[in-house]
Amino acid sequence: MGALYTSAALREYARAQVTQADVLLTKHSESALSLCRCGRLHPCDDRRHWLRMRAHYGRFLIDE
Ligand SMILES: [Zn+2]
Repeated sequence: MGALYTSAALREYARAQVTQADVLLTKHSESALSLCRCGRLHPCDDRRHWLRMRAHYGRFLIDE
């Protein structure tokens, strides 16, 4: 697992995940006071989920 952890393949995967997270975070941004663009209260479950994912995968890209 150690070698895979720092592999270029994982970095590529992490970069793709961060890109996807950014797209979805844009879709789930605040559209009006306390309202997400999807119609739920801001921040909605999707936004919280993708913020966590972005933080998780972003850690793999820090030392680039
Ligand atoms: Zn939303």
